[in-house]
Amino acid sequence: MQTRFSQKQLEDPKTAEAEKILRNCVHCGFCMATCPTYLLLGNELDGPRGRIYLIKEMLENDAPATKVEVEHLDKCLTCLSCTTTCPSGVDYAHLLAHGRSHIEKTYKRPLTERLFRGMLSTILPYPNRFKLAIRASGFISPFKSFLPDKLRAMLDLRPPLSHERAPQITKAREKTKYRMGLSAGCVQRAVGEHINLATLEFLSNHNVDVVMPPAVGCCGALDEHMGKSENAIKTAKRYIDGWMAEIEKGPLDAIVINTSGCGTSIKDYGHLFRHDPVYAEKAKKVATLAKDISEVITMIGLGETKIKNTIHVAYHSACSLNHGQKIGDLPALLLKEAGFKVSHIKESHICCGSAGTYNITQPEIATELRSRKIKNIEATKADVVASSNLGCNIHLASGTDIPVLHVIELLNWATGGKKPEAIKIKKM
Ligand code: SF4
Ligand code: SF4
Repeated sequence: MQTRFSQKQLEDPKTAEAEKILRNCVHCGFCMATCPTYLLLGNELDGPRGRIYLIKEMLENDAPATKVEVEHLDKCLTCLSCTTTCPSGVDYAHLLAHGRSHIEKTYKRPLTERLFRGMLSTILPYPNRFKLAIRASGFISPFKSFLPDKLRAMLDLRPPLSHERAPQITKAREKTKYRMGLSAGCVQRAVGEHINLATLEFLSNHNVDVVMPPAVGCCGALDEHMGKSENAIKTAKRYIDGWMAEIEKGPLDAIVINTSGCGTSIKDYGHLFRHDPVYAEKAKKVATLAKDISEVITMIGLGETKIKNTIHVAYHSACSLNHGQKIGDLPALLLKEAGFKVSHIKESHICCGSAGTYNITQPEIATELRSRKIKNIEATKADVVASSNLGCNIHLASGTDIPVLHVIELLNWATGGKKPEAIKIKKM
């Protein structure tokens, strides 16, 4: 694609990077066929190629973003399905980040939207605040029909609170072979601590000492998704500092990630801080240590399993793992190895609509994508659904009675750990 940036504009390394990405696009349109929003809305500007043009215009003109540009970029799920399909290797993820950061700097959203997005950014990354908000929402729930769509969407998703608390240090059950850190997430600490507990039990049973430093909180992915790049950088720095302090106490073999949405952002820290003289090296170190739990299992081995093909699992491939980290079917293969009967879901490359905070900020599209995904899940006739991302699990569970679990809950159970609550309830 031809570009017309001035020499002066190209002196800014961020603009120079955006230009390089734009030049890789040959307008072939292959990406359009696998873009969920283009499939649903049928508008060129709601597909990757159209969005690439919009970002190009916005950056080249160096003018404040317009309402149209904001509308179409807001509708992008950041699912990165387009990057899997693109034959030219266009780095859409980083181009979109430039576009969103430009919007954040130059576009004044309506007051209600600013307040709403500010609220998400002030509450979600902090587990105690999020727990308080969930408790308070119980009082508002009876009046939800009077609320605006986005607040109603939030209430509809409201997951149950976690009452258990994972320990900061978990020792290997027998002889220590590895020392790892667990990145426990922020939202997950409030509503998905059972996933952290299953991960810790699995790792302990596989001879891993695990630390969960209290100084390590949110990784910044939630703010990054909303284009709040300055907040995301501040949060990511705190995250990096937390791990570096732990690494000084003793080396880590891996930083275990069990929320694939976070994993995609953390693995990209090297790029995020590439121009930062203080953080570049530290960021690269943390990014290199970061491993999805499925990658960690291939490193330490699954061990003996006790499940004998009696439970049928539909594997939902989270976009952040599939397109973001290109991990593909590894979790499904591990489930099979553990003895489960595993089915793939039709249209597995299409996002379920969860996408960070997308199911709250764009509830209509998110609900449509969820219905499409659930129809495909139900067609497998599976007993349970499993994915590697809490966000997908909460979103899917709000639309089906089939239990939705994290892959590690099943793998932990299959290798001698606790039986997941959802399976106990279903008496499987
Ligand atoms: S597939 Fe790649 S090269 Fe083709 S239009 Fe899409 S982004 Fe551009
Ligand atoms: S990230 Fe997903 S929604 Fe956005 S343009 Fe690419 S395929 Fe479409």
